[in-house]
Amino acid sequence: MTHRIIVLGPPGAGKGTQAIRISERFQIPTISTGALFRAHMAAEDELGREAKRYIDAGNLVPDEVTIAMLAERLQEPDTERGFILDGFPRNLSQAAQLDELLTETPITMAVEFVVDEAAMVGRMLRRAEIEGRSDDTADVIRHRLEVYREQTAPLVDLYEQRGVLRRVDAMGEIDEVTARVISAVEQPRVS
Ligand code: AMP
Repeated sequence: MTHRIIVLGPPGAGKGTQAIRISERFQIPTISTGALFRAHMAAEDELGREAKRYIDAGNLVPDEVTIAMLAERLQEPDTERGFILDGFPRNLSQAAQLDELLTETPITMAVEFVVDEAAMVGRMLRRAEIEGRSDDTADVIRHRLEVYREQTAPLVDLYEQRGVLRRVDAMGEIDEVTARVISAVEQPRVS
């Protein structure tokens, strides 16, 4: 079966780490819009310079820019076997535009990473020390959590109504969470 999976959950919930593991398990690519933006920023190209202003402030990069970048990535042949989207969609408008891009091959599942948000701030501050991401400072982290709550969290209801939502307890050891995510993905459809 072809998996076209969205991972949802607040920043710092471990989506990126787990998405890579699901990728390996199911042999499908992970597409992370955040990682694509960071690659453009590292290359200091026009898209990277444009995105940096928003990313460093913890705001969403405008939809037109983000969707154009994602649409291009989805045209690569490796996505024919399925894919995992990490960090996209981030609001209702992006979700609607994703539906337009995938009319023939809709999303098969949205996995929500359920975490204790207070613990996320500590986790992200530790990540800041290790990875040196420019948007992992205390103020920006708080703002990113607000943006998640206001703009992205409503997507959980959207995918629940469609009957494709799976909730996973994402607290605990990385390996334990991976096992839970894999079993959620492998679970037969309930609806
Ligand atoms: P992430 O690595 O997913 O936490 O993304 C880091 C930052 O990149 C976010 O705080 C946003 O500024 C930007 N970003 C990533 N994905 C999107 C998206 N789908 N729409 C708008 N901005 C995004």
